[in-house]
Amino acid sequence: MAIIQTDHYEINVDESYDRINDFIDKLEPSKIFVIVDNNTETHCLPLLKEKLHLDFISIRIPPGEKYKTINTCQALWQALIENHCDRNCLVINLGGGVIGDMGGFVAGTYMRGINFIQVPTTLLSQVDASVGGKLGVDHMGYKNMIGMFSNPSYVWIHTPFLETLHEREVLSGFAEVIKHALISSKRMWDRIKVNGIGLSEEDWTQVVSQSVKIKQNVVSEDPKEKGIRKILNFGHTVGHAIESYFLKTNNPLRHGEAVAKGMIAEAFLAFKTKRITIIEMEEINSLLESIYDLPAIPKEDTEKIIALMSMDKKNKGGDIRFSLLNGIGSCDYDVSVEMDIIRQSLSF
Ligand code: NAD
Repeated sequence: MAIIQTDHYEINVDESYDRINDFIDKLEPSKIFVIVDNNTETHCLPLLKEKLHLDFISIRIPPGEKYKTINTCQALWQALIENHCDRNCLVINLGGGVIGDMGGFVAGTYMRGINFIQVPTTLLSQVDASVGGKLGVDHMGYKNMIGMFSNPSYVWIHTPFLETLHEREVLSGFAEVIKHALISSKRMWDRIKVNGIGLSEEDWTQVVSQSVKIKQNVVSEDPKEKGIRKILNFGHTVGHAIESYFLKTNNPLRHGEAVAKGMIAEAFLAFKTKRITIIEMEEINSLLESIYDLPAIPKEDTEKIIALMSMDKKNKGGDIRFSLLNGIGSCDYDVSVEMDIIRQSLSF
């Protein structure tokens, strides 16, 4: 159990429900809206109702990354308007990273911004997406193209929500746990590389709070991602491009799966640029390959992935920039790599 205090909001990991109930009472919202998707409506809304004693209006959207669009935002804004949502209302985002990013964006822009609370219900959103204030939607096939930084009023992480999560989603979230270890905690990496993921045996409270602390420490140093926060993008330059690429196929990857593939490619780049040893690269590959069953990128589509990477938000002047490990537990950012080596990494 942990309370992680940031400059702007409290992150409650499996601490008493009274804290969030008290927080909402003090806000005295004129109405409360809970944004859910079909799955979180079934699996998570009953638990939210049981633990938080609230009157609310729920708004449901279809599940999945393909609905993380401005069209869905328009439907949400419309529902808020039709239900007379005023500036003093509160939005609670009950769901994974898609609901968190998009519901936060909707609340953060509605009437120039109303209060919202993140209640992440996937491992990925608990360890990563719910913290740090990045909000937004995908656009024209590019990940998170339209969005903003805006902080929630509160983050309530309740690991029992994970009990109904499909195993594939748990594994997807675990990729971000692995990323956090690789960029900033050799000790955590040494434990993970031996134990892998024990699924049901994991002490999720401990795993989640450790991971959230790592993310929060980085974010607090650089909230708007001008520098050090970019290390959180290790695996994501390639990962986001791969996620966008597979989103257009019949076999879309989960975010964490794409990041796992991205970490394999970017560990190769770190090795080729002499930042990690061959042994370290092989340890990373063998752990990720033992956990994830990842499709290959057809060789003829390498240039499509490069084109997607060239739209990455970290790039400067058309030059693709990476966040690359510098040893285990440390990470450099704004690294340029020769195009030839980038191409090799995609077939590695
Ligand atoms: P998701 O939100 O699509 O959720 C995955 C699936 O699990 C969905 O079908 C959902 O309905 C279902 N689900 C959610 N909670 C459940 C529960 N408790 N029981 C049963 N089913 C449940 O995907 P995700 O992996 O949580 O998030 C991915 C998104 O997060 C991506 O869009 C990514 O860009 C974003 N992200 C954002 C940040 C950030 O800093 N803002 C960081 C990392 C990832």
